[in-house]
Amino acid sequence: MKIHRHDVVIVGGGGAGLMAALYAGKEVDTAVISKLYPTRSHTGAAQGGIGAALGNLENDSWEWHAFDTVKGSDYLADQDAVETMCKEAVDVVFELEHMGLPFDRTPEGKISQRRFGGHTNNETKQPVLRACNAADRTGHMILQTLYQQCIKHNVNFFDEFQMVDLIMEGAECRGVVAYEIAGGEIHVFHAKAVMLAIGGWGPVWNITSNAHTLTGDGAAVTLRHGLPLQDMEFFQFHPTGLAKLGILITEAVRGEGGVLINGKGERFMPKYAPTVKELASRDVVSRAIYLEVRAGNGVDGKDYVHLDITPPVVNKFFKEDDSRTPNGELRHIDAEFVQTKLEDITDFCKTYVGVDPTIQPIPVQPTAHYAMGGIPTDIDTRVYASENNEVAAGLYAAGECACVSVHGGNRLGTNSLLDIVVFGRRGGKTMAQDVKGKDFAPIDAEKAAAAVVTRFEALRNSAGTESVSAIKEEMQLLMTDKVSVFREKAGIAAAVKQLRDLKRRYRNIKIEDKGKLFNTDLLEAWQLGNLLDLALVTAESALARQESRGAHAREDFKKRDDQNWLKHTLAYKDDEDHVTLKYKPVTITGYQPKERVY
Ligand SMILES: Cc1cc2nc3c(=O)[nH]c(=O)nc-3n(C[C@H](O)[C@H](O)[C@H](O)COP(=O)(O)OP(=O)(O)OC[C@H]3O[C@@H](n4cnc5c(N)ncnc54)[C@H](O)[C@@H]3O)c2cc1C
Repeated sequence: MKIHRHDVVIVGGGGAGLMAALYAGKEVDTAVISKLYPTRSHTGAAQGGIGAALGNLENDSWEWHAFDTVKGSDYLADQDAVETMCKEAVDVVFELEHMGLPFDRTPEGKISQRRFGGHTNNETKQPVLRACNAADRTGHMILQTLYQQCIKHNVNFFDEFQMVDLIMEGAECRGVVAYEIAGGEIHVFHAKAVMLAIGGWGPVWNITSNAHTLTGDGAAVTLRHGLPLQDMEFFQFHPTGLAKLGILITEAVRGEGGVLINGKGERFMPKYAPTVKELASRDVVSRAIYLEVRAGNGVDGKDYVHLDITPPVVNKFFKEDDSRTPNGELRHIDAEFVQTKLEDITDFCKTYVGVDPTIQPIPVQPTAHYAMGGIPTDIDTRVYASENNEVAAGLYAAGECACVSVHGGNRLGTNSLLDIVVFGRRGGKTMAQDVKGKDFAPIDAEKAAAAVVTRFEALRNSAGTESVSAIKEEMQLLMTDKVSVFREKAGIAAAVKQLRDLKRRYRNIKIEDKGKLFNTDLLEAWQLGNLLDLALVTAESALARQESRGAHAREDFKKRDDQNWLKHTLAYKDDEDHVTLKYKPVTITGYQPKERVY
């Protein structure tokens, strides 16, 4: 066992972790632990853009951005947090630019912007140009830029170290226990402040846009320490994943003029969202696709539809007026435009489904994409230990794993890259401030390590009969079948029961690799335990919420019910299988809940 000491320890080297590390690292001794090499984090897969009301190409304001975010959230977001994010968006994008991020440019040299779902001019109600982008690899550029800055500011990196436990003394966090993936050695990190920035958990479902590595480790670990997870029933299904594979086709394809066509050749979004059509918020578009498929309008009777960005001349489905963007402009889509603005997407389509999007429509279906819920925090990333907003001292969370809550029931596209840099920056500053003049609180490193060793040795030596991959697949199919785009009581209740059964079987798994070197078999088994816990909490939270709001669409409670359910869920796990739910109010500053019309 090795012991390390740093003022601030950040778990996760994605956009949130790196932005926090940069800010903390400028002032105090800071380390980042990441199970992946940082620039391989999922932030690097983000394509479309980062939202900020720069108003570079047309009139825009942060207040419009805030209203769109609150409306998109189906009024579940905390409005003070939303205002903070949208106000700071403009400055943080300029900061990234000054760090060297190569944004696409307008002819005058300003940062270029594109349209995205749910972002509107609040006066005309039409889509607005608000997403700043670097072609269709914006996240990749954010990650590279921040990593270089962290190196410049001497942040310490522990790459391919996996956090497997937190060192908690009551509700205070004093460090982290990590597993060195290469050699299986246990490392104890003693810290004054610990931040969790571990990303999401899309692999709870079988069709997902998320990396295989996103297994919600930090969220599951906090649950096991008696801390709550907030609004877990709200998980976003992005409407356009490549059929069967789930690989994301960015909303920017629709932002640039792409349209959705059903198996009968009809453009169906005008039926569901007459004003903004394909650029309605993601929950609305995902449900529309699902309903088309259910009505037998999938392509060739299958469970997918077409996303079409081919020029009208090639596309046999188009009528004259369909060749315009949702904003009424003529679509300026030609092969060259698609290839320069959507280069990676063009590649993905050719590589994975053999489709050239400049001449053929892309087969798409909803894909599990983004965790709106997560570890509850205040706007400075301090973790809340209860529904009464008591703070867990020394513990912070930012990025997708956190729930501030700026996304409420449904996140708007481009608001996650924004969330990670705005709250990463706030968190880095807050931690630096909080640890100054503070001593390291004592820890029992031997005891903390021993607890992990016992658990991991038990896993490594388990001689059960169940296979990790089989349990994982059953969980994913079950969640897709019963707790995805649409849900109802009997289905969710059955999912809860079957998840408990899967958890029971999980205790009887078998690990083939008994060694220490790069034992991914062992880590996969541990990660499956995390996914199962998160799936159970998601299903229990969904079963209790008797209304439809944002991404949580109940077939048996079709309406939003502000009287009874305008509140955040907080789920606690008491023992292996028991979940207790509590609630707390939503913060409303000025935007009174209204019906959402797109
Ligand atoms: C395909 C795709 C496209 C997207 N496009 C956009 C977009 O255009 N605009 C937008 O706003 N949002 C987009 N999103 C969402 C957005 O990219 C993510 O929500 C965001 O990047 C998450 O950043 P993060 O820093 O929280 O986590 P991540 O970037 O996922 O990083 C997580 C980090 O945690 C580390 N980690 C995890 N567990 C452990 C552990 N146990 N121990 C140590 N380290 C650990 C990993 O190594 C990694 O470094 C997209 C998401 C996907 C999947």
